[in-house]
Amino acid sequence: RAKAGGGGSYCFFTAEMGAAIRTRLLLQSALRHAMQRGQFEVHYQPRMDLRTLQIGGMEALLRWTHPELGAISPAQFIPLAEETGLIDEIGAWVLGQAARQTQEWNRRYGLSLQVSVNLSTRQLRSAELVATVADALRVSALPPRLLELELTETCMIEDRDRAASMMKQLKALGIRLAVDDFGTGHSSLAYLCRFPLDCVKLDRSFLLHEHPEGISPDQLVQAMINLAHALKLSVVAEGVESKEQLEFLRRQACDEAQGFCVSAPLAPNAFEALLQEGWENRLAGSGRQAEAGMALLP
Ligand code: C2E
Ligand code: MG
Ligand code: MG
Ligand code: MG
Repeated sequence: RAKAGGGGSYCFFTAEMGAAIRTRLLLQSALRHAMQRGQFEVHYQPRMDLRTLQIGGMEALLRWTHPELGAISPAQFIPLAEETGLIDEIGAWVLGQAARQTQEWNRRYGLSLQVSVNLSTRQLRSAELVATVADALRVSALPPRLLELELTETCMIEDRDRAASMMKQLKALGIRLAVDDFGTGHSSLAYLCRFPLDCVKLDRSFLLHEHPEGISPDQLVQAMINLAHALKLSVVAEGVESKEQLEFLRRQACDEAQGFCVSAPLAPNAFEALLQEGWENRLAGSGRQAEAGMALLP
């Protein structure tokens, strides 16, 4: 603990801060080796088409398991990967994996699953991005329309011209673009529609009952869905946890739902088991998913 000067201000350096800094440095160097040591795996969270109640696609979510530290959350390591610049390499790997895996499943089971992959702001700034995406499509032979990239509001607003030009180039490859976590930033859908978007993913906070007094969350979600549809965007609700939410979204003509109520993100073998069993069997099978699914059957 150091005294900063006569002004009575102190600079604290606590044991916890020391520990936090050590953890950070440790994670940073561990992250550099994670890829060649095979510690990454891409998991897949199903997206349910609310019209057909089928899995129309899934979101690729990166998982990192360190031999000593165990599973580390993307909320912790993705920002670190961005700061260190490792995100370009990691992001390219995720894209390659997701495209290859999706095309493999589509071929094996005669499906046309669409996969969506998160992009970080930094990747959108990289000159390599378009070539990286084109490569992933070429190597995997995944039809471009079955690949969707998820961008955040901030990444479009911060550097608007650059983002717009990147998005135009990406669209020219024939892929889809989505805005992720919509509603957490400071933009309006009307503003975002100046960009070539196909889909909006409503942040899960929209479904939580934490709005200012007098504002009904249901009406808000309904209005968002209507506005998105008026702007020719499809709508995915994120973080759908209850069957009540699922039913409500279906009544509001929301296009797709993603969340624990449908399924948690799954390791590739678990996702494939789901494809083998058939989605309907799984829904009729067990637990919360059974409730969610059966309640929806006409
Ligand atoms: P995201 O893109 O918004 O992904 C959805 C997150 O919500 C995932 O967290 C998912 O596991 C979680 N989730 C899904 N359903 C529910 C639900 O019903 N309730 C709740 N409470 N949560 C649910 P996850 O996997 O921990 O990832 C966190 C974030 O890390 C992602 O948020 C995404 O922005 C980022 N991320 C993950 N993988 C990648 C990647 O490959 N590249 C980049 N750039 N970012 C990634
Ligand atoms: Mg996402
Ligand atoms: Mg995201
Ligand atoms: Mg999200």
